[in-house]
Amino acid sequence: MTTATSHITTSRITTDVDFERDGFQTGTLRVPHSHDRSAYGHIAIPLAVLKAGSGPTLLLTGGNHGDEYEGPVALMKLINRMPALRIAGRLIVVPGLNFPAYMNGSRTSPIDKGNLNRMFPGARDGTPTQMIAHYVETVLLPLADVALDLHAGGASMNHLPTLLASPPPDRDRHALYWRLVDGFGAPHVMVADLLGEDRTFAAAAERRGKLFLCGEFGGFGTCNPDGLAIVEDGVERLIATLGLLPGHPVPDPRPGRLMRVEGARHYLFAPAPGLFEPAFRLGDEVADGQIAGRLYDPHAPWREPVDLRFRGSGVVVCVRSFAHVQPGDCLVHLASDTVRT
Ligand SMILES: [Zn+2]
Repeated sequence: MTTATSHITTSRITTDVDFERDGFQTGTLRVPHSHDRSAYGHIAIPLAVLKAGSGPTLLLTGGNHGDEYEGPVALMKLINRMPALRIAGRLIVVPGLNFPAYMNGSRTSPIDKGNLNRMFPGARDGTPTQMIAHYVETVLLPLADVALDLHAGGASMNHLPTLLASPPPDRDRHALYWRLVDGFGAPHVMVADLLGEDRTFAAAAERRGKLFLCGEFGGFGTCNPDGLAIVEDGVERLIATLGLLPGHPVPDPRPGRLMRVEGARHYLFAPAPGLFEPAFRLGDEVADGQIAGRLYDPHAPWREPVDLRFRGSGVVVCVRSFAHVQPGDCLVHLASDTVRT
């Protein structure tokens, strides 16, 4: 048996789909969850699988954070079209990966407060969120050649629709990797730096030697129609670029504007509690020293607001939604142009 199959027995999560069977299947991942209202119950995470012929496996996930909706909506639309797709390879689609968080409309799980994207490699005998992370790391990723995990800013942030590129550590696969990025064709591409963070889906994919793409396609806890259109188009193009659609023309590469977050100077955090009045809009080009906004003290409305200034130059790629801020809250972050290395 393959390594992947032997891992299936190690996870406590089971499924009624057979990843090796040809054809279109829908079913659930069953996360054991015994609680006061359901002694022998499980959390049922829906998924769809399409397999035919031989070719690569693409794993598509949304709902890693439960309040980000462009990915789940695009993937539900894809699932509806999957029975008619003539593919050579396999698609595994999970629109709401951290299903309890997704159904609760929250970043983290209401059951265990788990932030799935900080829980890899997870734990077989852990909380539901840890078990989901463990299943992704030990079962789903080993089945995949390429994984795409779709995000947005969630309730507290809004992102310029951006594909996040995490080029693999070995340079041999860079040409293929950038072909996939250009195949997705997002208007903005940001080079992600894991900065040693090894608890994310991206880090799990790197550990498993898989090519990994993710992205931020909106935010504010809404489904952004512009971001959704980019995701739908990008997923379609990625499937074709990977060669999963024989006879279908491979889309022309469409490189996006390549940017990078340049460390601490690209972030602005609230220095004190208050009400923040931003002096920028998403997508603005701003300069070092420029006023970023003003912080008001609602308990002393007669007091002069505090001017907050950008400490670097670049494009506003992510903004906070809530005007009320506490010290340490991220108000905005920037990115600036970079080149492929
Ligand atoms: Zn997210």
